[in-house]
Amino acid sequence: MSRSTRLLARAMDVIPGGVNSPVRAFGAVGGDPPFIARGEGTEIIDVDGHRYVDLVGSWGPLILGHANTAVLGATMAAASRGSSFGAPTEGEIELAEEIVARVPSVEKVRLCSSGTEATMHAVRLARAATGRDRVIKLEGCYHGAHDAVLVKAGSGVATFSDGQATTEPGSPGVPAAVAELTVVAPYNDLAAVKALLEQHEGEVAAVMLEPVAGNMGCIPPVEGYLEGLRALCDEHGSLLVFDEVMTGFRVARGGAQEHFGVRPDLTCMGKVIGGGYPLAAFGGSAEVMDQLAPLGPVYQAGTLSGNPVAVAAGLATLKQLDPSCYAQLEAMGARIEESLRPALEYHGCSMHRVGSMMTIFFRAEAPQRFSDVQQCDLAAFGRFFRASLNGGVYLPPSQYEAAFLPLGLSDEQLSRVVDGLSSALVAAHVH
Ligand SMILES: *Cc1c(COP(=O)(O)O)cnc(C)c1O
Repeated sequence: MSRSTRLLARAMDVIPGGVNSPVRAFGAVGGDPPFIARGEGTEIIDVDGHRYVDLVGSWGPLILGHANTAVLGATMAAASRGSSFGAPTEGEIELAEEIVARVPSVEKVRLCSSGTEATMHAVRLARAATGRDRVIKLEGCYHGAHDAVLVKAGSGVATFSDGQATTEPGSPGVPAAVAELTVVAPYNDLAAVKALLEQHEGEVAAVMLEPVAGNMGCIPPVEGYLEGLRALCDEHGSLLVFDEVMTGFRVARGGAQEHFGVRPDLTCMGKVIGGGYPLAAFGGSAEVMDQLAPLGPVYQAGTLSGNPVAVAAGLATLKQLDPSCYAQLEAMGARIEESLRPALEYHGCSMHRVGSMMTIFFRAEAPQRFSDVQQCDLAAFGRFFRASLNGGVYLPPSQYEAAFLPLGLSDEQLSRVVDGLSSALVAAHVH
């Protein structure tokens, strides 16, 4: 029996399902998850000594790979000065200045500790700023694990749901009365959002979305979609909220809003911003952000918000992310996509990619919305996933997730990824 298998059995006794976040359990793809012993740059090594090229990167944060020298140095230095004060520190200003300088729509920003918190506070702020209660979210977008957004959510919610289209909350425990305030439209369907805004005229605080969906697999916005949402929000007095927890500092230096040239009213950030530490943020215009306590009446707080070690990691990460990094990520992504294209077509698969975010779909036509992803051959995806893992390529264990490329993949590793995924495509179709 492998060491990972033994650890999973031991974990099961004291941790529900043996994992601290559901999708880690490999429930959708079969097999047991390897327990990870350490990371080295762009690779991870499990407790049994297997080595993988890591295309998960802790689900997005580790754009610089594992144990990046500058991030390590910055966090060790910060930790040695004390782990937390619950009082303002200079590093928080530096990080806020760095974010404001990069993200086009953000004039002021508040730091928190997880993407879930960032979207939760953004929803509250949008409701307060507009004096309205309803939120429009898009089917298959994931905005964290709090009640208001657990309605037709992607990621783990989609991975473990029965796939039924319902208007019910995405989880038991979310009150129907709360879920009712969240109305859902399909992704990439402007007319559906327009209809909802008209149906609930004067009631919609925010239209919230992932500007590139990553939590139903990677699905880019169709031409004109983000611009259309911007215009609809202006027309109906609703705030446009971009959840850039995944896309922020990932698809461009200033996130998807820079990449597509569309300015939201509020932006949620996480993942890359913390360089692998618990750090997230939400920001927008000074006018809206100044409604937060202590300046304004909208309450928001966090004991570990702006934690000095996490801030040091975030700063050390962002400082390395110059435009050449995004050119490198794009070149690596394009090389993988071009190399795989013939095999994907041959096997009736498709792929979406935005820079270093990508998903291979087990469906001939690349999906535009959640219901398309539900038509993928999930059993074939499971076989593909397990064959990739056996071939030394660590992908997210669900069709409803995006893979991420880290900076610094060598030519040899890129070839290993292409060869590993090509062989896995063959394996997925032999059964
Ligand atoms: C990961 C993610 C979240 C949730 O962030 P956590 O840090 O896991 O709470 C929210 N929105 C998007 C788009 C995400 O990808």
